[in-house]
Amino acid sequence: MTDLLTHEEYRAIAQSLDLPQNAWIDGAYRPAISGKTFETVNPATGVVLGTIAACGPADVDFAVAKAREAFEDGRWSKLHPGARKDVLVELSRLMLRNARELAVMESLDAGKTIYDCETVDIPEAAHVIKWHGELIDKIYDQVSPASNGHIAMVVREAVGVVGLVLPWNFPLLMLAWKIGPALASGCSVVVKPAAETTLTALRLAELAAEAGLPRGVLNIVTGSGADVGEPLGRHKDVDMVSFTGSTVTGRRFLHYSADSNLKEVVLELGGKNPCIVLDDAEDLDAVASHVVNGAFWNMGQNCSAASRLIVQAGIKDRLIAKVKEHAREWIVGDPLNPEVRIGALISKAHFAKVSSYLKASKSDRILMGGKIVGEGFIEPTIVEVSDRNSSLVREEIFGPVLTVVPVASFEEAIAVANDTEYGLAASIFTANGKRALRGARMLRAGTVTVNSFGEGDITTPFGGYKQSGFGGRDNSIHAHDQYTQLKTIWLDLTDTADTAIG
Ligand code: NAP
Ligand code: MG
Repeated sequence: MTDLLTHEEYRAIAQSLDLPQNAWIDGAYRPAISGKTFETVNPATGVVLGTIAACGPADVDFAVAKAREAFEDGRWSKLHPGARKDVLVELSRLMLRNARELAVMESLDAGKTIYDCETVDIPEAAHVIKWHGELIDKIYDQVSPASNGHIAMVVREAVGVVGLVLPWNFPLLMLAWKIGPALASGCSVVVKPAAETTLTALRLAELAAEAGLPRGVLNIVTGSGADVGEPLGRHKDVDMVSFTGSTVTGRRFLHYSADSNLKEVVLELGGKNPCIVLDDAEDLDAVASHVVNGAFWNMGQNCSAASRLIVQAGIKDRLIAKVKEHAREWIVGDPLNPEVRIGALISKAHFAKVSSYLKASKSDRILMGGKIVGEGFIEPTIVEVSDRNSSLVREEIFGPVLTVVPVASFEEAIAVANDTEYGLAASIFTANGKRALRGARMLRAGTVTVNSFGEGDITTPFGGYKQSGFGGRDNSIHAHDQYTQLKTIWLDLTDTADTAIG
């Protein structure tokens, strides 16, 4: 467990950080070819942290060309798997050695609490890189049960140059989820971090070079979705794109692919995740603690946030009382204060969007919170809805807002839970084991947790059903499927040279 510093000590580190400002392409920091920059802001204070290279299509072209060069000459793609492993394990070690700097940088850039950055984001990102690194030299290819006269091998090959387009809610961790398996597989990558959160990605690229990653293999192109994300999505020499972000933008990547080179597209998108609590749930304190964590962790800016509490009527009042008790412990304030659990929302625009949900509905009952705590901060809020079709129930708010939907029975709970266009995660709390398992099978979601809230870990696949995404999974050995493709190689074992394979 990380030893946390004091608020004052974190503030002192924040003052002394040397922040990156240029894109990282072909093993070096570089300004945008146009010379343009944009400001990056600390959402907790509104203070401008620095300027960042505002790249555009020309920078994307340059980065893709360098990534292609690296892929084709094999400086990484054809390296012995054990050698790739050594570099990734060393990168993980360097991330941990620089964890404090990365944690403060992440907190400043994203408004995330230093507590989360220190205890989850940075150590977990380092762990993910190490896990994939250590896996590389333990994956075997296959030999098919073909006829005696032949050997048919099924081998995996790196897909090539990949574009990775990232959201701002877990900047370094989402980067690790993607580059871990992509680099392990031998791909060269061009990363587009969210414009709001570029700092830790840039710093990581520098650490990767220090760890021995050859130039051109990992490129970070900073800039907006329109100027960098779209040209990357449309690029004819990019073999696949793995995207994490909103469903609206994810849909665009399918168009980009269809209109360019039919690159593979993997989408990890939004969620409106149900958390079912049945009358017979045991240990309401523990349930409430999971509910609060599920709904308010990272200010609710979490694709798998348990944002819909679907609760059976008999237990509702007692559960809500406990949930409030636990939520009150989540202090809102300066993200650099290690006591704080609710930091700032990512931006003024996002803050306005989340606030608009709280103002919109007159018929809903605010059970807790609903207040804006200074610009950019919203306290944990619980709203009971009367209309199951309201935007609070249907839309991903991506803020610290828990929507309560009372139900009468198990069957109704499952029906309400599945009545959404999303399908990323779901939870069910009940003491009835059979019912829990039946529920887990009936819930249409990529991850279901029983009597707990969580996303699993690096060992389990993560991804969505329905409009929460498709095309592959992040995490676990299955993540490597995204970045590799299957090739079949037939060997003829018969004596006559002219035997054809049918
Ligand atoms: P977003 O607006 O879709 O942005 C994601 C990325 O796409 C950013 O880098 C963004 O660039 C870029 N982008 C925006 N418009 C684009 C366009 N027209 N063409 C190409 N690229 C474009 O999502 P967000 O607000 O950053 O992130 C929150 C969303 O991510 C939520 O919906 C959340 O549920 C989802 N998410 C899903 C997962 C998962 O694993 N399923 C994990 C985390 C988050 P700029 O913003 O820099 O312009
Ligand atoms: Mg920022």
